[in-house]
Amino acid sequence: LVPVGIVAGVVLAIAVLLLARTQMAIPAAIKSGLKRRQFFLLYQPVVDLATGEWVGAEALIRWRRPGGELIMPDFFIPLAEQNGLIEQLTHCVFQLVARDAGTFMQRHPAFHIAINLSAADLHSPHLLTLLDGLSAETGVSPHNVLVEITERGLVNVDAVRQVLHDVRAKGFRIAIDDFGTGYSSLSYLEALEVDYLKIDKSFIDAIATEAPTSNVVHHIIGMAKSLELRMIAEGVETQEQAHFLRERGVEFAQGWLFGKAMPFTELEQQMLGRATA
Ligand code: C2E
Ligand code: CA
Ligand code: CA
Ligand code: CA
Repeated sequence: LVPVGIVAGVVLAIAVLLLARTQMAIPAAIKSGLKRRQFFLLYQPVVDLATGEWVGAEALIRWRRPGGELIMPDFFIPLAEQNGLIEQLTHCVFQLVARDAGTFMQRHPAFHIAINLSAADLHSPHLLTLLDGLSAETGVSPHNVLVEITERGLVNVDAVRQVLHDVRAKGFRIAIDDFGTGYSSLSYLEALEVDYLKIDKSFIDAIATEAPTSNVVHHIIGMAKSLELRMIAEGVETQEQAHFLRERGVEFAQGWLFGKAMPFTELEQQMLGRATA
């Protein structure tokens, strides 16, 4: 009989080896996925809470593996960030946005597209070129392009202040994503030029519940108002949440109550259907 300890040890060693193999294989798989066009975007509508109108959409990346398996960004974006591949992915996102939404946006000059950026993108010398390229290629006004950056990307405020200034000087808009989950402090918000705060879903979830954080949303709204920032609520799932936010002057929202992320063609069809309804 083989002692249990040895069996467990061998099993563990195999598991670690397998994990190490898949971990090492992922950056290579992302690179080949980029070449083979396995990445695509879904678009989630952004609604005006006062009118219910769809005023824009957020581009959300997906990875379709050759076997058909769909991989979500919470898994591969951090790995791309750690392995120096995020700039290539962001480049791909810009190409996809131009292809999917360019024509539609030309025809609907009030419609905006939001693009997620990683911290590394803010330090990339190519960011402004990418943004300029998007509006040059599609004829879309910079005003209709919103770049979303998380607080994690703002740890070094001095380093991003200039780039955010340059981005805004060209007319692009900036949103702080997942607001309230990071290193929030009023001082960085005062130091940076931004247009929107996106209130993180965790605070929306807590609205009208007994959760200890149920009050935080009041403070976030107060802070945004005092800094004259417009707000987009994330992850709105109930009418009650939408009502609460509208009453308190939050202008925009996203969430399953209004629409999940969908292919651009579907978003376009639904918008046309709503306009003629
Ligand atoms: P995020 O930017 O905070 O995006 C919101 C996430 O919440 C999306 O998940 C969206 O599908 C989901 N969501 C929206 N409404 C609801 C709702 O009502 N209920 C629930 N339960 N979920 C909702 P997704 O698409 O899986 O994206 C996850 C994260 O991956 C994003 O969080 C963003 O940080 C990152 N990401 C997505 N696309 C890109 C990209 O192109 N570039 C970069 N750098 N990051 C991206
Ligand atoms: Ca986002
Ligand atoms: Ca978010
Ligand atoms: Ca998030």
